[in-house]
Amino acid sequence: MSFRTAGIHHVTGIASDPQRNLDFYAGVLGFRLVKRTVNFDDPTTYHFYFGDDSGSPGTILTFFPWPDARRGRQGGGQVAVTSFAILPSSVGFWIERLIKKRVEFAQPTARYEDERVIAFKDHEGFMGELVAYPAADARTGWSGAGVPAEHAIRGIYSVTLWLDANELTGQLLTNTLGFKLVREQGSIFRYAARDGGPGSIVDLRCVPGIWPGVIGAGTVHHVAFRASTEAEQMQLRTELTSLGYNVTPQLDRDYFKSIYFREPGGVLFEVATNGPGFAVDEPVDSLGQSLKLPDWLEPRRFEIEALLPNIHAPLELRGPNA
Ligand code: ZN
Repeated sequence: MSFRTAGIHHVTGIASDPQRNLDFYAGVLGFRLVKRTVNFDDPTTYHFYFGDDSGSPGTILTFFPWPDARRGRQGGGQVAVTSFAILPSSVGFWIERLIKKRVEFAQPTARYEDERVIAFKDHEGFMGELVAYPAADARTGWSGAGVPAEHAIRGIYSVTLWLDANELTGQLLTNTLGFKLVREQGSIFRYAARDGGPGSIVDLRCVPGIWPGVIGAGTVHHVAFRASTEAEQMQLRTELTSLGYNVTPQLDRDYFKSIYFREPGGVLFEVATNGPGFAVDEPVDSLGQSLKLPDWLEPRRFEIEALLPNIHAPLELRGPNA
């Protein structure tokens, strides 16, 4: 049986100041900080995971905030745009909120027959969209920071890759990762996994001769797709290797297991297992409240805590006397 992903597992971006990153994604967009850990490859840097109440696959956005990171630039070979799902009844709420929070955004536009899209940028130029669509979404998101439950962001809607050429990437998505080409409009090719619902969509935007993206603050580092089991993941690894991809060994990310490879257009892809999830080292009720380290870094906790920048809960999450 060939591999079929259920869709996007998470998107990981690069940021600079960790406090401002936390203030925007938890304080403005209202995600839950579900894990505060370090970059396993560079433990003096944080790794923040944002998501719904438990950090379910498909709701997760993560950042490496390097305080001195230089600004990147969106371009070819990158996930240029990350889109988040909201309900159609939430468009007005989000426009008001973005205005109040002084977020740079564009007036809603219609896309295809059924999507309304509010494009925005965070303070570092990270390109996001809030996408309102009528399809059912079982996800409930997280209500925090003054975002009521009915207006909460449900999770990731889609990612848009900017590519110089789309054919090989399209073949990888359909022949190997289990996506289907569901729409073609102008320079945009839409692929969907499984039912094609929110969280399963990958748009390829093909711009021949596009300037290459520059990795840095405000850009996406990689996108991860879901594998239901480790066995399925290892089977995919074998297949990718036989196709000539240079795939990393399976890496233990504590909250899931991952393999990484670069797709033909230059974007870093990860395939991550659904489990074990974020409750593996702290209770769901207190996710994200304390710094969690993998076992092999625990002996260095004192040193790591001394080197990490101080952060505090976003203003929106603090009480009036805090
Ligand atoms: Zn990742």
